[in-house]
Parts: sequence; C-alpha cells; structure tokens
Amino acid sequence: MHDAVAPQSPLETPLAKAAAVPLPGADELADRFPLEANPRPASPERRAELLRGLHFGTVFTDHMAHARWSRSEGWQQHGIVPFAELSLSPAAAVLHYGQEVFEGIKAYRHADGSIWTFRPRYNAARLNASAARLAMPALPEEDFVASLVDLVRTEAAWVPSGEGESLYLRPFAFASEAFLGVQSANVIDYYVIASPTGAYFPNGLKPISIWVSQDYHRAGRGGTGFAKTGGNYAASLLPQQQAAERGCDQVCFLDDVTQSNLEELGGMNLMVVYADGSVSTPKLTGTILEGSTRSAILRLLADEGRAVREETIPLVTLLEGINSGAVTEVFACGTAAVVVPLGRLAGEGFDVEITGSEASRHIYDQLTSIQYGKAEDPYGWMYRLA
Ligand SMILES: *Cc1c(COP(=O)(O)O)cnc(C)c1O
Repeated sequence: MHDAVAPQSPLETPLAKAAAVPLPGADELADRFPLEANPRPASPERRAELLRGLHFGTVFTDHMAHARWSRSEGWQQHGIVPFAELSLSPAAAVLHYGQEVFEGIKAYRHADGSIWTFRPRYNAARLNASAARLAMPALPEEDFVASLVDLVRTEAAWVPSGEGESLYLRPFAFASEAFLGVQSANVIDYYVIASPTGAYFPNGLKPISIWVSQDYHRAGRGGTGFAKTGGNYAASLLPQQQAAERGCDQVCFLDDVTQSNLEELGGMNLMVVYADGSVSTPKLTGTILEGSTRSAILRLLADEGRAVREETIPLVTLLEGINSGAVTEVFACGTAAVVVPLGRLAGEGFDVEITGSEASRHIYDQLTSIQYGKAEDPYGWMYRLA
C-alpha cells in the first residue's frame, strides 16, 4: 500500500513529525535522573523574594539535570545535582572550537497546580538534529524528556503561577574533553538549568523595532543556521549591536546568497500577515532555525482557515506591501516571547512603520491559552510533567 505522496507542507516537517510521536507518561519516565539534593537550597523566603519581579534569565533554581557521554561508554552519570559552578579544564574543546548545542522550552503552571510543558519531543528531536550537525552524539529523546520531568519535579516550587510566568528550561550539551586537537570531542556534558521567568511584556504586547542588517548574515548555505548552537548567536551579536546603535530593538537577517530575502531575527522566526488574511513565513532553506513556536502558529493559522505559505520573501516586496497596505502586520515568534509584533522596520535607505497587531494578539492569546491550560489542546501539544 502506498500513502499519498504530498509535497512536504510546513506542518509536516521531520521535527513536527517527531513531535507527534506519543511519549510515555511522566511517571513512567521519572527517576531516570536520580536526585542528589542540594544541601543548601534557597529558603522558602528567599525563593519567594526571587520569584517577585522576574527578569529573563537572571535567577536559577537549586538543581540542574546532568549526564555525561563518552565515546567508549555512551551516556552515563544521569542525575539531578545541585546547581553549582562547573569545573572545566581550560583546554575543554567547547572553549576553543564552540562545539555546543542548546534548547529552550518552558514549564507552565496550570490553575489546578499541575505543571506542563509544550511539545517536548519537538525540542528533543531538534537538539539531536543540532547535535548531528555539530558532530555530537544524540541523546535518546525519552531521556531528554525524562531530564525535564525529574528537574521540574525537583524544582516544582520554583514554577511561578502569575500571568504569563513560567519556568524557562535551558538544556544544553558541550564538548568538555580537555584536548586542543580539532576533532569531534570524546566527552560531552549535557545539562538542563532552570530559570523562573516573568511575562515578556507584562503590560501587553509592545511592538518592537527591527534593523535589517545588510552588512552581516547569521548563517550561510551548508553552515549551521538550522542548528541551535551558540556560534550562530556569537555571529549575531555585532549586528545586534549595530541595530541598537540605530535605535532598534532587534536585528533581522537576509539570506547570504542573494542578500535580499528575509530570513529571521537573531533568535525568533518571522511571519507576515496580509490584508487578505493570508500569512507567509520564510521557507526553511537550511539557514533558518525551525522554531517550535513557528510550527505551532502555522498549524493554528491554517486550522483557522487562513492560507499559510512558506516562501521566499524579498525585502523589497515586503516594503512595497507595507507601503501599499497589502501587508497589514509583521510579527516575530519564539518560545521566550511567544509572539511580538513589529512596529518599525528600518535599514540602509528605508524606515517604515507597521501599525497592525491584531493577528499577533489573537495568535498570542490562542497559543498561551493552550499552554496555560485555559483552552482545549486538540493537538496533544501539552505534556504533563508534574
Ligand atoms: C530558538 C530560535 C528560534 C525560535 O525557536 P522556538 O522553538 O520557537 O523557541 C528562532 N530562531 C533562532 C535563531 C533560534 O535560535
């Protein structure tokens, strides 16, 4: 029997398919990372104080998940261990050659106190896709999810319950072998750290301004653009600085071949909303990071009856559309901020305003309602951690 062969739709990428494979329940995955308790955790008073007035990525919980891989023995030493400084040889390969990959995913507290995460297999599969590009070993997807289960169960008291708040989880893996030879390392350490975070925009969605970089690219063909690796971010810091000097919040990159097509921001994907209700996003060419938020939003938009397209979006076409009114809205999306409308798009020789943000608000509400358990989850995206 043959399945109908459909061209790959934006909704059916390998990551989206991996994400749809059912997972065992968290009770079944629990205890793969046994707890070595922190002898000096933050007191409940100190924790309460830290949970007030949260900023992104500044406060960390008492424990972290860890496992170590060696070429001869594979993954071992799985555990939840006290959050502490790492002891690393100054010769550790990551410090010299940047062999590193990471993820970003959140744990959300629902009204009944339960704690959930969003499509963890998507991130598990993406970590492994990134790792493969960096010549690093895969972590079994269930172990990735198990590390989140055990860490979040240990740190449940750190999962905030305020509007738009969450526990941001940062899984990462890096070459810890002490060797200056240029080769794929024989020792890799995997960690997950956790950071309670507040709403990105506590006073409602605020449009951001974007500088389109015509001097630099974050990724090139055959490079590491599709992988979530620190080096891509390192390459984005100087253009980000230029954007800030131009009075802009974030930088947008163009493709490196034609230097004229939209790709994405330093850490968020882009979507363009048209007056006819359709939405388009730059197609995945290998230089764009395939966001889990992007994937979910494309699904929500399509199921709401909108035409969604993955396509080449030339900057000039976008600017024409903004000026003619054919483009009503542009927004960025990613796990940390969820959805952010663009209010201004500037670059060498242009500076335009974008006024719409209705679709951004609607999609933000739809997605966060599912994530916080306020709306039904017909997609099975949510996974109960605790
Ligand atoms: C992480 C990331 C995104 C957003 O991915 P999400 O899975 O939606 O958080 C987009 N672009 C880049 C470059 C990223 O690193």
